[in-house]
Amino acid sequence: MKEFYYKKGNLFAEEVKIKDVANHIKTPFYVYSKLAMERRFDQLKNSLGALRHRIFYSVKANSNVSVLKVFGSLGSGMDVVSLGEYDRAKAAGIAGKDIVFSGVGKTKYEIQSVIIGGIRQFNIESEPELNLINQVATEMDKVIDVSVRVNPEVDAKTHRKITTGTKSDKFGVSFENVKMMFEKGTEMKGVSFVGLDMHIGSQISTLNAFRLSFSRLRKMTLELKRSGYALSRLDVGGGIGIEHNLNGDSSIPIDSYSALLKDYFDDLDCEIELEPGRSLVGNAGILVASVIYPKLGDENNFLIIDAAMNDFLRPALYDARHQLLAVKKSSKKENGLFDIVGPVCESSDTFERSVNLPPMQSGDLVAFSSAGAYGAVMASEYNTRPLIPEVLVSDSLYAIIRERPSISEIIRRDKIPEWL
Ligand SMILES: *Cc1c(COP(=O)(O)O)cnc(C)c1O
Repeated sequence: MKEFYYKKGNLFAEEVKIKDVANHIKTPFYVYSKLAMERRFDQLKNSLGALRHRIFYSVKANSNVSVLKVFGSLGSGMDVVSLGEYDRAKAAGIAGKDIVFSGVGKTKYEIQSVIIGGIRQFNIESEPELNLINQVATEMDKVIDVSVRVNPEVDAKTHRKITTGTKSDKFGVSFENVKMMFEKGTEMKGVSFVGLDMHIGSQISTLNAFRLSFSRLRKMTLELKRSGYALSRLDVGGGIGIEHNLNGDSSIPIDSYSALLKDYFDDLDCEIELEPGRSLVGNAGILVASVIYPKLGDENNFLIIDAAMNDFLRPALYDARHQLLAVKKSSKKENGLFDIVGPVCESSDTFERSVNLPPMQSGDLVAFSSAGAYGAVMASEYNTRPLIPEVLVSDSLYAIIRERPSISEIIRRDKIPEWL
């Protein structure tokens, strides 16, 4: 069975007709295919073969508890970057020992909370953070596993807003500092140094950046081992890019990525930890919206839809282009160039420019492909637009996995002080 496809001109997710969902749930909303997630996870898992590894799905790509549950049932651990994400993973039934905690700004409260709840390892991003984790763990009479996130100084050649592995980025520490931290670590009572960690960026579309950073990680591992440190885990992060189209693949063949991992790390006697996000969920989701009005202008024509930048930020934030699809294919010919825009009062609320479209009218359903990652999770309530629903499809079943809040619920969160 295909994940997303057309049957008699109608868009389907698995066995569910998108039009039927839209008859019951007000647009805009996200639709995810469980099968698409499972297939991508299995593909990665199978390609890794005999390499000793663990997959930790990167929660920030799509943190809906049902999505986490899908990956958890496949045996995935979770990579989290906040206490909120940690609690979501727990709510999806993931045990603390299957969660790694990354990110540059872990607070004392977060560190204490996840030590109480259980954690597999912290990926350490700075010396002050190492000191704090050691202090907190010592006070609690615990020894916590830590890996140090090394900055491999590799430019992933992706959008500058999602590059994380160059010298000027806020992430990770230089190899010189890594060595110094390992040395200090031998004196620390609250932490046990288990390995190195790395994540060079997201939506990476060539193997070369990975090749370069893996080769550096290997070199550093060997050097630390020669100095007598027993490394047992290497976390290679995520970052594999995807093609933006219906059922799109990863932009790097998964087999080649896994072959590279085996080439560089198979003989090091370390467990390889992976933190994929986008490559597992990006093409497992679409965003469904309705046309509000076509607006014919002197210079430009606009198709104004009911989804906007607050619902799906990637086009505005990263200049990302997501393919616009008709939910029911038109038999009419394309007859004009349209800019696809939302109702938010910002010019950057533009999804695509100059798309040749058949005539469309109010109420027609459209969808954006490849909206499963960094879509719903980045949404805001700008313009007091409620967060939109998320729908999970499995075979011929579908269910709302996050409801749209009412406007009164949103307004009720505001408080008017009695002196006002
Ligand atoms: C965002 C992130 C990931 C996941 O990146 P993708 O590009 O979605 O695969 C993995 N690890 C860390 C530390 C991250 O910050």
